[in-house]
Amino acid sequence: MSEHGAERTEKLAIDVQGLRKRYGDVTAVDGIDLAVRHGEVFGILGPNGAGKSTTVEILQGHRTRDGGEVSVLGADPGSGGRAWRSRVGIVWQDESAPAELTVQETVRHFARYYPSPRDPDEVIDLVGLDAKAGSRVKALSGGQRRRLDVALGVIGDPELLLLDEPTTGFDPAARRQFWELIRLLADEGTTIVLTTHYLEEAEALAHRLAVIAAGRVVAEGTPEELRHRFGSEATVEWRERDGTPRRERTPAPTRTVVGLMDRFGGEIPGLTISRPTLEDVYLRLTGRPEREDAR
Ligand code: ATP
Repeated sequence: MSEHGAERTEKLAIDVQGLRKRYGDVTAVDGIDLAVRHGEVFGILGPNGAGKSTTVEILQGHRTRDGGEVSVLGADPGSGGRAWRSRVGIVWQDESAPAELTVQETVRHFARYYPSPRDPDEVIDLVGLDAKAGSRVKALSGGQRRRLDVALGVIGDPELLLLDEPTTGFDPAARRQFWELIRLLADEGTTIVLTTHYLEEAEALAHRLAVIAAGRVVAEGTPEELRHRFGSEATVEWRERDGTPRRERTPAPTRTVVGLMDRFGGEIPGLTISRPTLEDVYLRLTGRPEREDAR
């Protein structure tokens, strides 16, 4: 395996600058920049049609671009060779595994495509399918199928795993189990990029995330940074002595509360202090009405 690509981009696993893609009259990706560091879980979050899948397909080398610079593990995905491909794990959305084979046969079969695969039985354990190793693929539930897809994505022992909307269609319990799997892989040092519409998923998994809307990055940072940068004001609510509800938006809620304590001579009736959730920030960034402003 060639190491010089990794050396050239030692700081970044993925470096995207000015990425553009059009489908006829539709501009799907309109100048996206992304920087993903080695070892991080990076979330690409955005509403339907934002350009997430198009971006990930370009990173995978499965779609051409119309403009911009893209480096994935030091290579241009458009011309990444076999050695590069073996370092990038892709979790397919479609039914790529043959239905008649068992889980174990399938994972062993796919392992043969890679120069230095992981141990198939270990991978089956990792994705939590050990009890299903002898079951035919067609007998798996949707969530188990998805786990098998991840097993096939990591069997080649990739440095980078690219997942496009991995938990769409999952029930909440399956989604949480899947998050555990992603965390396990991240703990092992795999760099992971995943797209999602689920804000809670991005918040639960991503070290950093890019919010994209209409083909552009509208914000980037840790979930914490985004909350602070785009929603630093807190809302203090209380009731006056005559019961009238009051609310104040302020960047300094402690000062407001201390002032109210003085005025009330102690306990403040109906006091609550709330900060914008990441959901409020996300809805504002992606152009949907923010709950606060709608009042
Ligand atoms: P979703 O969350 O719904 O999967 P997305 O963020 O992944 O959306 P894309 O699938 O990248 O968005 O689509 C971005 C835009 O490009 C959309 O307007 C979509 O209709 C359009 N588009 C995507 N693929 C094609 C295609 N093969 N031909 C024409 N237009 C396309």
